[in-house]
Amino acid sequence: MKTTEQQKQKMRRYYQNNKEKFKEYDKKRWETNKDIIKEKNNAYYLKNKLELLQKSHKRYLENKEYISKHNKEYRIKNGDKIRELEHQDYLRNIKNKLKTARNYREKNKEIITIKRDENMKIMHNKFYARHIAGRKIKIPENQICMICNEKPAIQRDHRDYAKPLEVSFVCASCNKRLGGGLNAN
Ligand SMILES: [Zn+2]
Repeated sequence: MKTTEQQKQKMRRYYQNNKEKFKEYDKKRWETNKDIIKEKNNAYYLKNKLELLQKSHKRYLENKEYISKHNKEYRIKNGDKIRELEHQDYLRNIKNKLKTARNYREKNKEIITIKRDENMKIMHNKFYARHIAGRKIKIPENQICMICNEKPAIQRDHRDYAKPLEVSFVCASCNKRLGGGLNAN
């Protein structure tokens, strides 16, 4: 016997009206028989997997319109709640992603540094030299420009990009006047 749409709606209404009772009954039944139910369900599921999946898909197709309508209505009614939950999810995901990335970086610090340096080397002597000098050579505090001996030194000047660790501490205008060094490529 096929269930008609009318009957289905009646069942749905009945369930909606007695939701709490159903829930409580299920909860009690679940609490007392947890393990047996789990085992039974699992065995039943494994035995009838194919048929069950087919049935559930068929049920989905039959109720597709109702489900999508219901979902839409639910979203409209609970928009704020859903957005808040999605936002929480989003924050959790970001946090996890950052944590994973941080862990990865911590674990692979050396490899990452070597790889980055290698990439820089391949890219350009000039950028590589600046990158290395920036990481390894700190401009001393209160350092005065080594060219004009006047202004505070805020930059490192390379005369030869093939020697990344050989730098002069210079002010911006002197650095500009000096221009590029040797072996830029
Ligand atoms: Zn200067």
